[in-house]
Amino acid sequence: MAVLVLSSERFAHHMTPPGHPERYQRAEVLDAIARRWASGGGALEPPPPATREALARVHDAWYLDRLDGLRGRAAMLDQDTFTSPESVEVALLAAGAAVAAVDHTLDEGGPAIALVRPPGHHAGRGRAMGFCLYNNVAVAAAHALARGVGRVAVVDIDVHHGNGTQAIFYDDPRVLYVSVHQYPFYPGTGAAGEVGTGDGAGFTVNVPLAAGAGDADYLLAQATVMTPILEAFAPDLVLVSAGFDAHASDPLGGMRMTTEGYAALVGHLKAVADARSDGRLAVVTEGGYDLSALAACAQATIDVLAGKAVAPPGPDASPDRAREALAAVLEAQRAFWPGL
Ligand SMILES: [Zn+2]
Repeated sequence: MAVLVLSSERFAHHMTPPGHPERYQRAEVLDAIARRWASGGGALEPPPPATREALARVHDAWYLDRLDGLRGRAAMLDQDTFTSPESVEVALLAAGAAVAAVDHTLDEGGPAIALVRPPGHHAGRGRAMGFCLYNNVAVAAAHALARGVGRVAVVDIDVHHGNGTQAIFYDDPRVLYVSVHQYPFYPGTGAAGEVGTGDGAGFTVNVPLAAGAGDADYLLAQATVMTPILEAFAPDLVLVSAGFDAHASDPLGGMRMTTEGYAALVGHLKAVADARSDGRLAVVTEGGYDLSALAACAQATIDVLAGKAVAPPGPDASPDRAREALAAVLEAQRAFWPGL
């Protein structure tokens, strides 16, 4: 199955203040990877902007109006979220790329990856936050539901908890939100006891890991909690919030993941999608603020999606640190997922 890459040089046209980690050079790194992919014969498409209809499934109308009003303007939306004159148009392309990735994997069957900025997973229904304007992955998940998909899994491997995505689907059993993240850490949410509410109880799975976790901790979390729950949920579509800021080189995150560790995580997610979702897998970038690590992880992710063999992670310190955290997650989730 062919992999579709969605990318645009326009993602570099969203400008943030000097010294801001979510800087335009991230888009240049991602677009260079996309161009290399295309020059090797890979499928590459520019994204369309997200429609108002698609955005309104997860964002409040007043919030969409407010962002529309920021076209052509520079503004500060929270202490670390800014717009420049082209930011709203660029953010619409990021959300549109996530939607197009979903359409590709639903219609063609192969995986897709949207190499986008700004990221999305902190954005709530009516709130820009943490570098995020529109919640790209949430827009994509809601688009899939609107197309008749019954069950969508969103797996968030960014070092930060995706509080926006969690909140948008917190009471919705059609969307399983699974996040592994550094905790305690920005934005402060994502404790093991946050499991969803109402009909959505059990369809939010948080795996909070202490700072310093590495490949072995993440892969243990995946093997003991994430993969068993994903397999039991049997999603019709797997969406990945692919933040690469748990990499050891990242200036914001405090984790010790390697590029090979990320490739292994993505490989297991692809295996779940192949086994349970007919291969329907859409990956959308989130954070990742060391340009070299961002490039390496994005390239490794594309390679994994394309079925290339990728070097396994090297030996890592004992994952004992993660065991206690994982015990709390299992305790919180066993009532909903008896197979754990
Ligand atoms: Zn992040």
